[in-house]
Amino acid sequence: MTFQGPIPKAKKHGRVKPKYNPTPTAREKAFHQWAMQFPCACGCGQQSTVVHHPLTRHPEQRWRRDHEYVVPMNGFCHMDLHRAGHERDEPFTGLAVKAYELRWRAIDEGRL
Ligand SMILES: [Zn+2]
Ligand SMILES: [Zn+2]
Repeated sequence: MTFQGPIPKAKKHGRVKPKYNPTPTAREKAFHQWAMQFPCACGCGQQSTVVHHPLTRHPEQRWRRDHEYVVPMNGFCHMDLHRAGHERDEPFTGLAVKAYELRWRAIDEGRL
């Protein structure tokens, strides 16, 4: 195992907050692949081909664009979503709740 930089110091509560990385780690990528088995989160029923990062803030979210908080989406629906200007903070509803539930399901199944 090699470290790219200094090892982050553990905080008092013992958890290490890793530095934000815009590129998903191998584990996060595997989670995204797993998530895409579910149909598009918009409800259209189509095959998911991408993951979307809901930008809602909630306490367990480590960063605004957290790779553990994603929803599977069909690429076309995803484009529509961004074209409609939803790329901003939203209330904790809809896709954000789905991302939250999906993360816990992945944790329960030992994937995260
Ligand atoms: Zn859709
Ligand atoms: Zn998106």
